[in-house]
Amino acid sequence: MDIAVIGAGPAGLIASKLLDRAGYKINIIEEHKTIGKPVSCSGLIGKDFFDHFKQFDFEESIKNRIDGAKIFLGTNSFELKRKGVSFVVDRAMFDQSLSNGLEISLEERFQSFERKNGIISIKTNKRKFNTDLLIGSDGPSSRVRSQEFDYNMKHYKGYQVRIKADLDSNNLVEVHIQRPFFTWIVPEGDGIFRIGTISDSPKESLYRFLEERGIKNAPIEIQSGVIPIGKGINYRDRVFLLGDAACQVKPLSGGGVYYGALAAEALANSIISGRYSSYPQLCKQLIDKEISRGLLLRKIYEKLSDDELRAVFDFIKSKKHILNKSGSFDEHYKTIISLTKDPKIFSLLPIFFKAYLRTL
Ligand SMILES: Cc1cc2nc3c(=O)[nH]c(=O)nc-3n(C[C@H](O)[C@H](O)[C@H](O)COP(=O)(O)OP(=O)(O)OC[C@H]3O[C@@H](n4cnc5c(N)ncnc54)[C@H](O)[C@@H]3O)c2cc1C
Repeated sequence: MDIAVIGAGPAGLIASKLLDRAGYKINIIEEHKTIGKPVSCSGLIGKDFFDHFKQFDFEESIKNRIDGAKIFLGTNSFELKRKGVSFVVDRAMFDQSLSNGLEISLEERFQSFERKNGIISIKTNKRKFNTDLLIGSDGPSSRVRSQEFDYNMKHYKGYQVRIKADLDSNNLVEVHIQRPFFTWIVPEGDGIFRIGTISDSPKESLYRFLEERGIKNAPIEIQSGVIPIGKGINYRDRVFLLGDAACQVKPLSGGGVYYGALAAEALANSIISGRYSSYPQLCKQLIDKEISRGLLLRKIYEKLSDDELRAVFDFIKSKKHILNKSGSFDEHYKTIISLTKDPKIFSLLPIFFKAYLRTL
């Protein structure tokens, strides 16, 4: 059986690797000339990912270990600490390590597909070929998605610099709450930081932030990209959507590597079992609940007034001992639920309710 995989990002590569090991013939199409480049990622990946995907060797791509975060709302802040909660990777090396041993057709751009007599016919900028199954792991602006699937989604624009700076947080991430997302400082090591933000005009917002922080060095590298937030179906008649193409992204942080990887494993298992429609079911169990609830929390977060946001921030700050114990890097809804053990959260219900009404 032939499987065409469009896009050699982590999601497509993990699915390909697992299917290749199971003996399937995989045709991977990647539009860029180098795997993993250009990078549009801060490379912050939670420990759970590395624990789950021990079968792959990411050792060389890991640049730094993260032991917690400093969270800021303006000048108000608190610190969360957990040794080794996440790791900072070189995303190009990370993707390249996944591509080892796979044959990939580079500088080839997928254009469209057609179903004919049980066969899927693919058109790229270089050729036409037939396949039995098609996996669209072609990122946030997926062409496979736009041809076949209807998604209720939004693209958020991100901009990031790698820059030398004289900051003291070598193993802590800084998160500055700034809606619609936040501005981050991720220490890469060797005095280099990945500083980025997501907004309607992220470049301007980021340079303003750098100026306020007195960071004046010229960036070593500039990276930009989009984060797809939303949901939709991910399987129809031998065509699958995977990773950012399927919005398999944490709605509150925009991180997508772990969810995309879990979905890639689920997809490979569905194909190997011959029960293709089990893919959406497995995704439902693994990630969809977090995504749906995260989408609701995101809506509320975006609609809180500044005063309401300050009240929520103060409440979370007062519960940092709970977060230190049971907060999860990858499951934000579960983390918020852990705070409901404190009945004081009910004092925030009118705030959440009012903000929710504003989303309607
Ligand atoms: C600024 C920023 C920071 C981020 N930081 C983090 C982070 O710290 N941690 C985290 O987990 N996530 C982060 N993310 C999200 C993360 O980068 C994505 O979720 C992840 O890369 C998704 O993997 P993927 O394989 O689904 O898609 P991608 O990595 O986007 O890979 C898709 C591949 O498809 C190729 N492609 C696209 N169209 C075509 C076509 N027509 N033909 C052929 N090939 C095609 C692309 O070239 C690309 O190689 C960040 C995103 C942004 C924008």
